[in-house]
Amino acid sequence: MQWRNNPGSVRNALGVALIWVASAFWLPPAEAVADGSTPSSFDTVVLDAGHGGEDKGARGSKGLLEKDLVLDVANRVASSLRKNGLTVVMTREDDRFIALEKRTSIANDSRGDLFISIHANATADRDVRGIETFFLALDASDDSASAVAKRENQALGHSPKKPSDDAFMAMIGDLIVTGHMEESNEFARLAQRELAPGPDARGVKQAPFVVLEGVQMPSSLVEIGFLTNLQDEKSLSNESGRNRIAAALVRATLEFGRRYDARRGGTNR
Ligand SMILES: [Zn+2]
Repeated sequence: MQWRNNPGSVRNALGVALIWVASAFWLPPAEAVADGSTPSSFDTVVLDAGHGGEDKGARGSKGLLEKDLVLDVANRVASSLRKNGLTVVMTREDDRFIALEKRTSIANDSRGDLFISIHANATADRDVRGIETFFLALDASDDSASAVAKRENQALGHSPKKPSDDAFMAMIGDLIVTGHMEESNEFARLAQRELAPGPDARGVKQAPFVVLEGVQMPSSLVEIGFLTNLQDEKSLSNESGRNRIAAALVRATLEFGRRYDARRGGTNR
């Protein structure tokens, strides 16, 4: 048969088959559920505190570690969301290493309605400060977004995919992402608006984060400030700075939930 001489055809055929399977299982719920059952309302949020254990993440010049900061902020967000009646699943609740792919599978197993990965930024230019919110894309929106993804993807124990698999995986990944792209973008914008309404805003960006790949729900990665900037490190070191960030993430999540339910005809919170 002709395709035997053309491995690309085999790959394409396999791709089509996988797209079919993916379409059946991975696309978000339709507005109306075919069997007439009530669509599920927004009730489960997955919080991912970046890094942990031997993977310390960024380090501030005064010694603040990203892994400790983001776990503390995630805990503050979790407790407030739970008070608002939501179920919160955390990818880690203490100082331990969790592989990026494991975080994704924890999120998917929990069938969450929203995945928020919380990180802190670092860069060589110590004057750079502020908050950036990302959602997944295969191509970064600019060079600095690309640099952030590269740094965050370097978690210990993460082995990048073989280059030969990239185009194929990109095609499949693209399909999965597209299903939640609009809602991920929407959450990122709500989060950015609440977190950084003023001069701290660095905007919504897109980049290829491993931890967001394959997440079967709207997802976003928030960089809550630059540990390499003294002003940001100082504000993130104190209780009021952390509470301000947590409260903003909670407001964005609740507003996202209201819109999510309105779209699906779920219960209004
Ligand atoms: Zn990080």
